[in-house]
Amino acid sequence: APFIAYSKAWTPGTNGAIRAKCVRAKIEKKEDFDKYRGKLAGMIVILGPDAEVKPIIEAPYSRLDEKQLSEIGDYKIPSEKDAFRFSEYRKRREFQKELSKFLADEKAVAVVDHGMVEGGGGTVFVAAGGSWKPGEKVQVPAVTVAVEQWDRIARLLDAKKDVELELNIQNKFYDDEPMQYNTIAELPGSDKKAEVVMIGAHLDSWHAGTGATDNGAGTVVMMEAMRILKAAGLQPRRTIRIGLWSGEEEGLFGSQYYVQQHFGSRPPVNEPDMQGAPTLLRREAGPVTTKPEQARISGYFNVDNGTGRIRGIYLQENAAMLPIATAWMEPFKDLGMSAITLRNTGGTDHQSFDAVGIPAFQFIQDPIEYSTRTHHSNMDVYDRLQMDDLKQMAVIVATWALETANRDQMLPRKPIEKPLPAQPDKPEDAK
Ligand SMILES: [Zn+2]
Repeated sequence: APFIAYSKAWTPGTNGAIRAKCVRAKIEKKEDFDKYRGKLAGMIVILGPDAEVKPIIEAPYSRLDEKQLSEIGDYKIPSEKDAFRFSEYRKRREFQKELSKFLADEKAVAVVDHGMVEGGGGTVFVAAGGSWKPGEKVQVPAVTVAVEQWDRIARLLDAKKDVELELNIQNKFYDDEPMQYNTIAELPGSDKKAEVVMIGAHLDSWHAGTGATDNGAGTVVMMEAMRILKAAGLQPRRTIRIGLWSGEEEGLFGSQYYVQQHFGSRPPVNEPDMQGAPTLLRREAGPVTTKPEQARISGYFNVDNGTGRIRGIYLQENAAMLPIATAWMEPFKDLGMSAITLRNTGGTDHQSFDAVGIPAFQFIQDPIEYSTRTHHSNMDVYDRLQMDDLKQMAVIVATWALETANRDQMLPRKPIEKPLPAQPDKPEDAK
């Protein structure tokens, strides 16, 4: 029977069709390696926790209701924030590397896991299976298959039946030209043209779909906002600049490098994994040093939560923005934009700007089918875009960019977050 299967990013192909027997392996930590030593050679390794497939009871589609919108508005003044645990993240990465090496040393011919989504139904969430760095190539081909099909293999293996799979994976690495590019364009301002307002979204995406909702949606919204501003023949006071970022999915690389070049940076981090990597989000790297351009950018607006229309805005703990955002939202209430929250939101490119003290915001959007179906999945395709939602977003982004450009003052700023002390790698180091 054919499978719904996708190669994981940065894993090799099979060099023609291969056929091999399957073996189930439950490897969650290094100590588990011993159980499988000598048993994986020439085999396709069926990896992953037991699959629990449940019927899809709730509609995968949703919009935010009034209750949810008012809950987003709740905001608790935080005590000093927990730092993102880079040491834990590093440990997980280390384990993934050790696992890849173990599977290669054991001469496994391929790895098959499942997309972990309970509902299944043909949607496969698939991301990276190795490193994008040319020197850190994973040796064993790896695919993610639909959870029901993964479970069929697992059931047969549990019942001590032989299972054979045939795989033919054709992958290509583009190592000759590893450079990726941001796309920048601008509408020149008039009396305040030396000052800038930026809008942006990321142009890169995962490979199982076409990246329509993550983040083709944000990209077309930003391009359409620029088109509206130009077509309307408006002369903004400040320059309005669009940034379409690359490398967002690898760690906000495009926007971080752009911000480092133009607005400010933190010192480099002396870790093997971080050679030449941007460090804006690593508060323990040290204090932010700003550049002169940082004083001339008023704000940055980002869209990166799928195709759903804008329902409000995250103010990123910038309380002075509250009256401004409230006034700017007023004309869009009948288009469904009504929620303001002081909350932080993360995971996308506004963070690169926020890190160096630039007022930088991401909008609150309706989920539509983002987490249930399209985000990083094989179903992130054109047909899942909602045209009316995209139009609503473009109109709001264009207006907010123009308001920011034409305001007498620049947007109010919050203080740049102080550096954190270096984090211990192991809890016992903290004693
Ligand atoms: Zn995204």
